[in-house]
Amino acid sequence: MSSILKQKLTDLTVADLMIPAEKVAHVQEGNLIEHALLVLVESGYSSVPVLDLDFKLRGTIAKTPILKSIMGMERFEMEKLAETKVEEVMKKDQPTLLKDTNFLTSLKIVIDHAFACVVDEQGYFLGILTRRAILKEVNKSMYVSD
Ligand code: AMP
Repeated sequence: MSSILKQKLTDLTVADLMIPAEKVAHVQEGNLIEHALLVLVESGYSSVPVLDLDFKLRGTIAKTPILKSIMGMERFEMEKLAETKVEEVMKKDQPTLLKDTNFLTSLKIVIDHAFACVVDEQGYFLGILTRRAILKEVNKSMYVSD
């Protein structure tokens, strides 16, 4: 990889690569898990951000924890889908990125996460950065020889 290109890759920030909030499927913390499951199945995403009414990031919710939360001893207790709120099942401890976070820091975060949420200093949701977007840039850089 050329040093000029390496420099360009490392010059990239989250703002250059993120999917903006208006194009990201999300649910609200007060929604029922039934709604979240519908959004996840219809969109085909395994996980989506959870926001509050002010559009602040609260967590993420994925299919597997929803299914685990309705799993009884012998059957799925489907009635729980309409009794449980997203906030009871969502994951709250995922790392977040700022728009000016650099490429290398972002790359390290998406090693363990298919996507990371982007927020501003007050915690308002701005969008997501996917592992795919990072890998595309790394892949592009491989085609330029020294
Ligand atoms: P991808 O790298 O495009 O396969 O996306 C990885 C993950 O990021 C997906 O499984 C979703 O959890 C999330 N994701 C990607 N795009 C969106 C979107 N437009 N809305 C909500 N979540 C998304």
